Amino acid sequence: MTPLSSRIARLRTRIQRACEDCGRDPGGVELLPVSKRQPLNLVREAAALGFPRFGENYVQEALAKISEAPDLGFVLIGPLQRNKARTALLNFRQIMTVDRPELALRLRHLAGELDVTREIWLQVDLWDETTKVGGAGAGDLEAVFAALGDDPRLPVQGFMAIPPPEDPGSFRALDLLRTRWQEKLGRKLRLSMGMSGDLEEAIRAGSDQVRIGTAFFGTR
Ligand SMILES: *Cc1c(COP(=O)(O)O)cnc(C)c1O
Repeated sequence: MTPLSSRIARLRTRIQRACEDCGRDPGGVELLPVSKRQPLNLVREAAALGFPRFGENYVQEALAKISEAPDLGFVLIGPLQRNKARTALLNFRQIMTVDRPELALRLRHLAGELDVTREIWLQVDLWDETTKVGGAGAGDLEAVFAALGDDPRLPVQGFMAIPPPEDPGSFRALDLLRTRWQEKLGRKLRLSMGMSGDLEEAIRAGSDQVRIGTAFFGTR
């Protein structure tokens, strides 16, 4: 076992136990490795172990990795400026941080122009809408969905969030938000929440995807 494969084995055990605790199927929780500030050789090692996609926070850093390893798949989990929307659509497999109507409109326009289809996620922030991590407030989601207009080139997978760890109700609030929007849209939405320190709580509250950096790759 390499250090990487033993960290992954420990993570799988954590995910499995959390699922057992609440009667969920571990197969229903996706593990998305977050490779920001990790060396490319380690990312390659993880890809060889069967991970098809990696989360990256910074467009520039991800571009450097993509140019060296175009075979690897990266998804954007960090803030996206409108002037980087074209670059992001061309280089990432998914964009997980769509959080405002202007950005949604821009992406939609560009997806048509470039003739690309990209799965997207809406980033929500129910706690502090002025933090630099971004995220739409519950009241802004309507406008973001409207700006996307159900465009088949930008299929919405669900909601992504970084809930405050000190607030134990925050994961539940996201699950409720998801339920409300599922009813409104008449289809399933996934929830991406939970990181190295709080994946158990996120899974208990219904997370479908945990995004793991340090517990997967080691300290940055
Ligand atoms: C860095 C980061 C993660 C992973 O964080 P860890 O605590 O290292 O697991 C997940 N999601 C986002 C948005 C991040 O920026």
